[in-house]
Amino acid sequence: MVILLIVLIAVAVIVLAATGFVVAGRRRLPVPPPATPLPTRPPAPPAPAAPAAPPAARPAAAAGAPAVTELEAQPRFRDRLDRARSTLSGYLTSVRSRDSIDASTWEELEEALILADVGVTVTAAILDDLRARVERDGIDDADALVDALKEELVTRLQGDTDLHTAPDATSVWLFVGVNGVGKTTTIGKLGMREVRAGRRVVMAAGDTFRAAAADQLEAWADRAGASIIRGNEGGDPGAVVFDAVQHAAARGSDLVLADTAGRLHTKTNLMEELKKVRRVAERPPGQVTEVLLVIDATTGQNGLIQAQQFAAAAGVTGVVLTKLDGTAKGGIVVAIRTELDLPIKLVGLGEGADDLVVFDAVEFVEALIGP
Ligand code: GDP
Repeated sequence: MVILLIVLIAVAVIVLAATGFVVAGRRRLPVPPPATPLPTRPPAPPAPAAPAAPPAARPAAAAGAPAVTELEAQPRFRDRLDRARSTLSGYLTSVRSRDSIDASTWEELEEALILADVGVTVTAAILDDLRARVERDGIDDADALVDALKEELVTRLQGDTDLHTAPDATSVWLFVGVNGVGKTTTIGKLGMREVRAGRRVVMAAGDTFRAAAADQLEAWADRAGASIIRGNEGGDPGAVVFDAVQHAAARGSDLVLADTAGRLHTKTNLMEELKKVRRVAERPPGQVTEVLLVIDATTGQNGLIQAQQFAAAAGVTGVVLTKLDGTAKGGIVVAIRTELDLPIKLVGLGEGADDLVVFDAVEFVEALIGP
């Protein structure tokens, strides 16, 4: 009996110990690391206390710099243009399903383009060209008509997407556009891209009129490992850009990315202020090689009118179209390209650091209309 008891206890101990090992063993299984969320935008900065200090430089973080996030897979137009596509695709599927091309086919096409925010004038011009093509090429079925429309749009949208630099000067890229369109965010994203490409970048916080802009830019500069020059709140934006160019030249940096104000608190004319900033940035050793007009795609035709004023004043070389992920009316891209006659160089497809991509007309049209 006693022996039986001892045997039972021994069995129980062995079973318990074995269970414990299994549990312990399970705990030792490698735990997958938590998914790191794609960085979105820098944390909201605290309201700055307007320090009365001269423009200050913070050197590019080299050793001990915050790690730059690895390149995420580049977002594709197709994945981010769901909203815009859904507006157009219903109409165009209906056009494609027709047996022939008649007056109502053309009406349906016209309606589709206007609803997508291509604008009345540009739509009329596109349809005129398309009619000529249909005649010339003997197109007689609706499917081929939509394909011809796609080709027409690609031809209109293509342009020089290169961002130029000067070999023998300190290149300056100026970013202009109204408040809230995404200038600061674009500089942050682009700064990151350029640093990854091996360039030494200086960011100039030239929007001295918006309280949080310099802090926001500084957060991006930290993330990218770029230098930043900032001035007093309400101070002279020209002085900030001037200092940034001097700083870049002194340290052998390749590129200055200069933010500018989109609205002024004073009565000074914004366009005059921008011209001044540009003149200052042009002083040797600086050379302005790009003036990028940033436009918010969600503002549609209103944005276009503002854009025309900027384009005339600042000698714009190209457009950055932001928030394309948030618009249901991708046709605004065609309107901007045609009305401003400026190439669309970059587009914003989201708030993340990797959500700025080089504009690709073919990919864009495929994403907007479908195969
Ligand atoms: P700024 O006043 O022109 O400098 O504009 P900001 O850079 O401060 O941007 C205004 C807002 O737009 C911010 O919330 C940005 O995160 C957001 N934003 C900028 N670009 C994009 C984009 O491509 N897509 C989306 N969804 N949001 C964007």
